[in-house]
Amino acid sequence: MTHWNIVGHARAVAALDRDLHTDRLRHAYLFAGPAAVGKRTLALAFIQAILCDTRAACGHCRPCRLVQSGNHPDVITVAPVVSGKTIRTEKITIDRIRELNRALSLKPVEAARRIGLVTNFETANDEAANAFLKTLEEPPGNALLILTTDSPELLLPTITSRCEAVTLRPVPLAALRQALTERWRAPAERADLLARLSGGRPGWAVAATESTFERRRQRLDDLQQLLPAARSARFAYAEGLAKDRDALRETLELWLSWWRDVLLVASGASALPVNSDQVEALRRVAAILGLDSAAQAVAAVQRALAALSRNANARLAMEVLLLDLPKL
Ligand SMILES: [Zn+2]
Repeated sequence: MTHWNIVGHARAVAALDRDLHTDRLRHAYLFAGPAAVGKRTLALAFIQAILCDTRAACGHCRPCRLVQSGNHPDVITVAPVVSGKTIRTEKITIDRIRELNRALSLKPVEAARRIGLVTNFETANDEAANAFLKTLEEPPGNALLILTTDSPELLLPTITSRCEAVTLRPVPLAALRQALTERWRAPAERADLLARLSGGRPGWAVAATESTFERRRQRLDDLQQLLPAARSARFAYAEGLAKDRDALRETLELWLSWWRDVLLVASGASALPVNSDQVEALRRVAAILGLDSAAQAVAAVQRALAALSRNANARLAMEVLLLDLPKL
């Protein structure tokens, strides 16, 4: 466990903490890194540290608790609206940025300064980004601004150049595994598996620890039951799966990782499969199907994912996929 209760990102925490304790806080920070790597979590910890009575993000004082619960009157947050049924997030509009500017220009209620946090800034449209640029050039009062983004390359260079960049990289496997067992009480084997699957993204791993694990198990069981199943059973499953586009994508990504593992095992490589709890099933399927069929299955799932990205008819894409999967 590192300082500020953050999993990994020790260098970023140290740099931010140094800025805070040497009174050299910049007026704007840009947290960049892959989705679910911990940008927002780190930003909130940083905000806690700035506002904390002991400047340590203690988690117990009034300001810390208010930040934690999202109720601190001097912290103004703007985030894209995420729509539940589609993968798309709404853009951050100029109205939201204007509201932010207005709120930042008011006198702080209980802190020494107001803090604006804008997450996924890459979703801001041009108008909004330009309005925000003015805020960055002349921050109202001594407001501090924090942006997060998955895609810094999509931001206007005039924005990135005015922010202190804090780049977050995937958290090492061991640190993530340790955090999952110690803080989230995940059994060692499960922690290891989720740390591997997460690609070093604690947000993903924690969410998975809490909820996805059982669903994952179910989806992999489904896949294995479908392999010997008749066409009609496959079609019925395709129809059910196609109804929830978000769950569908998640399932396909899981299946893709599973089929890649089959391919890995079939190729005789010594590397540990991603789905390390499935070794037995992977070996069995790899032995029956062999390299070519495994490679075809990988390609079939990839085609289905690509079709979904193009907004193709989900049910049709699933039917095609389930026909393309090898029969055991
Ligand atoms: Zn505190």
